Amino acid sequence: MQQLQKQRDFFNTQQTKDVEFRKKALKRLQQEIIVREDDICDAIYADFKKPKFETLAAETQFVLGDIKHTLKKMSLWAQPQRVSASLMNWPSSDFIYKEPYGNVLIIAPWNYPFQLAIAPLIAAVAAGNTAVVKPSEVTPNTAKILSEIITASFKPEHVTVIEGGVETSQELLAQKWNYIFFTGSSRVGKIVYESAAKHLTPVTLELGGKNPTIVDETASISKAAKRIVWGKFLNAGQTCIATDYILVHQSVKDKLVHALKKSITDSYGQNIEKSTDYARTVSHTHYLGLKQMLKGQELLFGGETNDEDNYLSPTLVNEPKLESKLMEGEIFGPILPIISYETEADIEKHINNYGKPLATYVFSNKKSFQKKIIAKYSFGGGAINDTLIQITNKKLPFGGVGASGIGSYHGKASFDLFSHHKSIIKKSNWFEAPLRYPPYNLPIKFVKKVKHLF
Ligand code: NAD
Repeated sequence: MQQLQKQRDFFNTQQTKDVEFRKKALKRLQQEIIVREDDICDAIYADFKKPKFETLAAETQFVLGDIKHTLKKMSLWAQPQRVSASLMNWPSSDFIYKEPYGNVLIIAPWNYPFQLAIAPLIAAVAAGNTAVVKPSEVTPNTAKILSEIITASFKPEHVTVIEGGVETSQELLAQKWNYIFFTGSSRVGKIVYESAAKHLTPVTLELGGKNPTIVDETASISKAAKRIVWGKFLNAGQTCIATDYILVHQSVKDKLVHALKKSITDSYGQNIEKSTDYARTVSHTHYLGLKQMLKGQELLFGGETNDEDNYLSPTLVNEPKLESKLMEGEIFGPILPIISYETEADIEKHINNYGKPLATYVFSNKKSFQKKIIAKYSFGGGAINDTLIQITNKKLPFGGVGASGIGSYHGKASFDLFSHHKSIIKKSNWFEAPLRYPPYNLPIKFVKKVKHLF
């Protein structure tokens, strides 16, 4: 592949090792995004009617904040980090050098099509790598503007966009990369992992999952409803860390359902289809898949559709059967199943029915319950008494575990992710302890104490 060969040759020139070179490149990207912010909003709106507010907050301003923070901190992050030396090597000084991997491939999904292509790119460039970005074909207008912005910001031998669908993605995956960063479904994540294994290429897999939100009998119900509705119906439910299903204590279920309905109406009005704050399902295929999930379910609210526009209104489903299509895997749309529980054993039964989720949320005013859920269940990350907000703190690494992914990023974690950590000991010449060299004259009883020197 020609583009990759050019990037390999460019990486070998060592130019990306210069932190100032990287900063200049990121500043050009920053400028392009600022200048084209409205065009980006228009492109994503053309793809699936994402409200401008949501694009600004969760896509453009999100990555601009990321660039600003990275520009401020990257010189520090890139410096060799001194660590204390072990007695064994005395006298020495010991360091961790951050080395770019080389040529990186970034494969992005469609749901936050700008953020999820640019955020890993910022880190890949900051850490001194070259990159090929493959945007999702499902959001073609965003793919086009991503290509324009990246072309205007970088030389193609440094960073380039290759647009295309599954075939293009597979062609890219067949090449030898030094790092692959993939965001998307678990199904495709496995394909990526398998392709990477052929070349022993390290990967980050940012995948999805079936994220539970637990509401116990002590929760502040109206606040819980407001925060669940916001996190679930933002981007029309197409958010990897959105609530997939609610587990609510049976004693507060009716109250919660009432509050959820009220929150939906408060947010989007009586005629949700007309609301400018509500996005559409991304494609007709995805829309039909969601409609299929609703077959045979008891609806508590919503369920309105419009085939012309891939419109599915915020929908609440009552007690779905576990073996139904809706509860088989990740929903990834504006459908919210509500399941009641009586005991903590019921919660366990539901959560353990799926692989480790990307997020879990707990609404409770009981500290012991909050603590128990965090300690007992394994999941990527989450929040107590809110949803989604764990993604907004740069100091919190973001990523999945088990079925929801491998590796995590954001802030310094992103820079570290795209850097090989090279351990170096600088040994002094002024003293030489003869003990390690043959002939081994040190009495065995002393060798048995060597553990204290490591
Ligand atoms: P997807 O896996 O269908 O596609 C992602 C990318 O992989 C696209 O660029 C696509 O072209 C490519 N691709 C698709 N099929 C392929 C194949 N057979 N071989 C090689 N490449 C292929 O995912 P999507 O539908 O774009 O995104 C939705 C999924 O992404 C959800 O599961 C969601 O939870 C997950 N997601 C995770 C995060 C996260 O940060 N963990 C963020 C957003 C979305």
